[in-house]
Amino acid sequence: MQGYPSGLSLGRVNGATMMPSDDEVEPHEPGPPRLRTAIGRALAAGADTIVPPCCVVCRVRIGAHHLLCPTCWRDVHFIRPPLCDVLGIPLPFDTGERTVSAAALADPPAYDRARAVAHFSGSMRILVHQLKYADRHDARSLFGRWLAEAGRELMPGIDVIVPVPMGRLRLLLRHFNQAAVLAAELSRRTGVPMHPMLLKRTRWTRSQVGLTRDQRRRNMAAAFGVPRRRRAQLEGRSVLLIDDVVTTGATTEACARALKRAGAARVDVLALALVTNEALAAA
Ligand SMILES: [Zn+2]
Repeated sequence: MQGYPSGLSLGRVNGATMMPSDDEVEPHEPGPPRLRTAIGRALAAGADTIVPPCCVVCRVRIGAHHLLCPTCWRDVHFIRPPLCDVLGIPLPFDTGERTVSAAALADPPAYDRARAVAHFSGSMRILVHQLKYADRHDARSLFGRWLAEAGRELMPGIDVIVPVPMGRLRLLLRHFNQAAVLAAELSRRTGVPMHPMLLKRTRWTRSQVGLTRDQRRRNMAAAFGVPRRRRAQLEGRSVLLIDDVVTTGATTEACARALKRAGAARVDVLALALVTNEALAAA
């Protein structure tokens, strides 16, 4: 992963160059272009008066919508290169070429490559929690941009984006699947189609909280499958699997295995946050 989230400089956070996000641009707006921008500006100004822009983490007032204040921004611990090419975890030094960590060599995952935006700590931990439990989706466009940046190496050649599916009961309780929200946002941004129905939970799994790595693996084994009628859509395709947080990788492992069993040629993984020892220490 090279470079870091464009458009996220503090100048932008402070609202010095407030640009309308893609969300604010109507695809078929009527009227001549100059009038359209004038109307857009007036509407944006009106919206700012009604709901003033505030930091998506701590709610302090800032200059533009859907961004972080400088304090919360500094508390996002982005995962920066050098990285293990397979697991996407940071490596202590740069060898100047593609490097695979000892962990990936000792226990190769079922997926091909994984990348994540940040460590699961600080502001990212709060953002993920808000996305998951608080029905707060105001950071959606920011997440889409971050994912596109973190997954830049993975995107070329990806045929379809697939979110990690949620159990039916949990979906009923929570009303939405946060991985699908992220996948939809990335799809909108990159133009790569998303298919939320390719992968399904095939059986109930108990919550993963508090389980060891081995228990998680056993809990997740055979928990996912691709419906027979959907297999033709997967045959020989490259899939990008999206999740919000990758903890021990047991869920992504089980998903990748199911996708490959059903004929996917390649499965890469992209997440907002990665739980690493570093993240555990900082949490
Ligand atoms: Zn803040």
